[in-house]
Amino acid sequence: MKNEIRIIIFDWAGTTIDYGCFAPVKGFIDGYKSIGIDITNEMARKPMGLLKLDHTREIAKMLDTPISEEKILEVYSVFEKILFDNIENHCDIKDYVVETVKVLKERGMKIGSTTGYTSAMMEKVLPKAAEQGYSPDFCIAPDQTAKGRPYPYMIWVNMMKFGIANPREVIKVGDTGVDIEEGKNANCWTVGVIMGSSELGLTRDEVADLSEDELTERKEAVRAVYYKAGADYIIDDMNELLCVVDDINKKLNQNAERLLLTPGPLTTRHSVKHAMLTDHCTWDDEYKAITTSVINDITNISANDDYATVLLQGSGSYAVETMINCLCKKKDKILFLVNGEYGKRMLTIAKNSRRNYDYLNFDMTQPINIKTVEKMLKSEKDIDIVAFAHCETTTGVLNPLEELVKLSKSYRKKVFVDAMSTFAAYDIDMPGLDIDALAASSNKCLEGLPGLSFVIAKKKLLKKSEGRSHSHSLDLFDQYQGLYAGGGKFRFTSPTNILLALRQALDEYKKEGGLQVRRARYIENHKIIVEGLESLGISSIVALEHQSYIITTFELGDLDFSELYAALKSKGFIIYPGKMTNIPTFRLGNIGNVYPDDMSELIKIFSNYVHE
Ligand SMILES: *Cc1c(COP(=O)(O)O)cnc(C)c1O
Repeated sequence: MKNEIRIIIFDWAGTTIDYGCFAPVKGFIDGYKSIGIDITNEMARKPMGLLKLDHTREIAKMLDTPISEEKILEVYSVFEKILFDNIENHCDIKDYVVETVKVLKERGMKIGSTTGYTSAMMEKVLPKAAEQGYSPDFCIAPDQTAKGRPYPYMIWVNMMKFGIANPREVIKVGDTGVDIEEGKNANCWTVGVIMGSSELGLTRDEVADLSEDELTERKEAVRAVYYKAGADYIIDDMNELLCVVDDINKKLNQNAERLLLTPGPLTTRHSVKHAMLTDHCTWDDEYKAITTSVINDITNISANDDYATVLLQGSGSYAVETMINCLCKKKDKILFLVNGEYGKRMLTIAKNSRRNYDYLNFDMTQPINIKTVEKMLKSEKDIDIVAFAHCETTTGVLNPLEELVKLSKSYRKKVFVDAMSTFAAYDIDMPGLDIDALAASSNKCLEGLPGLSFVIAKKKLLKKSEGRSHSHSLDLFDQYQGLYAGGGKFRFTSPTNILLALRQALDEYKKEGGLQVRRARYIENHKIIVEGLESLGISSIVALEHQSYIITTFELGDLDFSELYAALKSKGFIIYPGKMTNIPTFRLGNIGNVYPDDMSELIKIFSNYVHE
């Protein structure tokens, strides 16, 4: 079901009735006067929005001398009597409320309400409001729930009443800071109304007497209260509420849950995104310890203590670039093995940095050919380093890592691997194979968020790289020093929230069962996609034995990509365009927080689409 706003929950006094919220103020002043204490208008108003007995207690806290609970109850009984005598004279409906509520109801929304009044008080208010054309579908008072505001219980009862599961389909509208807090605690959208609010605390006549500047100043003060309380929207009058509803509905649609079948950014787990909600400072010791733990966990996935993981701010290409530029000597010659866009990207990096390099080009639909590489290594004696992508994400071709590394090592070459799309999903034994360096990132098979990449390299190699970098921000040695000698310190601003998300992603990786289990899930996902599309006559362009279980390229045939994309998007799946130049293709990634069930669902939708 589509997410959209289903209930609007209004506060009463100051929001929908009683311009300026005057009914309770007199009661509190007279109540305190009855025990010989004078309070100001501001004091009487400050806790507005709370259950009235709690409100009475809050005022007591502002006094110079403490008063007993007994006295507070005495004040409250006077307050209650005065309020009851007066309340019916303070039920005038505020501007635009009746018209706005009418439209909201016509558009299928339910009108709920919460209040600081007790249910006995509301019994007097409800008929008065109804007389003037305002009758919400539901009303609950704080004496009917365990606690009043800022607790969210009254909102929950509204949600129960209308059978709503998702608080993001609910808007709370109020005129005090505590109204906003109530909404925040319920995790629903919150709207503060300025004109006629208790926070503004003015009668219509008083507003009319203010100069334009004075009024603006008063309104800005109210705005500041709502803003600080965390309001999602702040409006002058209720006639702006319909625009707010439209805007939220647009956001809900944009943020609808869709599965990303791409090679990153991916669909990530809620816990991973949620981990970002804490703000940290780069220098903080606790934060630095988290950074170090991330470094150690990543190192342990594919390497050991002879290796270091150097985290870098930036996407995967940043790591590939520093690996190429900082880990070889000026004169070192690099041989790039290219069978797709990511191989080409390494070439561009080398070319722009004026490195000494050579390359071999291979068919994009085929893995790198060992024999061709061997011939090259045999004839070109001056090559120092061999570099290639493990999985060419362009097509999904998996290159023969072990054979390529063993071959290069038999010719005593160093090996740099772009393992961006395979790290944490394929068993890459860096020490066992004697791989010198590898580049990967947070947002592929680690299932973290984009913004962090890393190079895992032999410490020996890193230590020798001091002073080699032509770039300061991409100086791998300097970054290594900061992170290791500096106890987890990024040299420059660290993407703190993304790092926290990566910390959580690594925890999720362990929780799932590590490499073996994650790999098994990807293999199953991949199998369902390939077999399912094959049965619909849609073939992959890479032979099955050369495919990775990360991403697969399919022939588009007669299908139109834009139409296919839109059709699948409307059903909650985001697919990826192809990168082949000669034939029209599309790609399906199957990594991220996606499961065999999801893949089967995709095939069903695909089948319906193709048969239409
Ligand atoms: C994703 C990826 C990269 C890095 O790309 P960015 O857009 O910089 O994150 C590099 N190599 C391969 C093989 C990849 O899959």
